[in-house]
Amino acid sequence: MQAQLSEVPRETEARTYLASAPLPSSFYAGRDDLAEVRDRLVAALAGDAPLTVAMLALVAGMIAEAVAFHAADVGGPCTPCDLHPAALCDEHGSVLDLIDSLVVLAHDLGIEVSR
Ligand SMILES: [Zn+2]
Repeated sequence: MQAQLSEVPRETEARTYLASAPLPSSFYAGRDDLAEVRDRLVAALAGDAPLTVAMLALVAGMIAEAVAFHAADVGGPCTPCDLHPAALCDEHGSVLDLIDSLVVLAHDLGIEVSR
């Protein structure tokens, strides 16, 4: 049985991405509990643990860095984009989808993010 698209929140992609995304460099400097932080982050993203104020701040930093990184990385239309019927190749499309998903998740969490 296939899941209905409407049953899958759009931000699922963002949650999956953030679960293994790099922690902000400003966060991990000098810390020795990163494995524990990662476990709590994964649990919070999965909804298995509360999103504490500290965790929300961490997630906000990760989203800001991820959006900035991927927005800078995506670049302009490429040759496959030009040849694609929708003028957007799969690679560029998936990066833009990820950015959208991160922005939607940020919005749902009450986080301001500029893109
Ligand atoms: Zn492209």
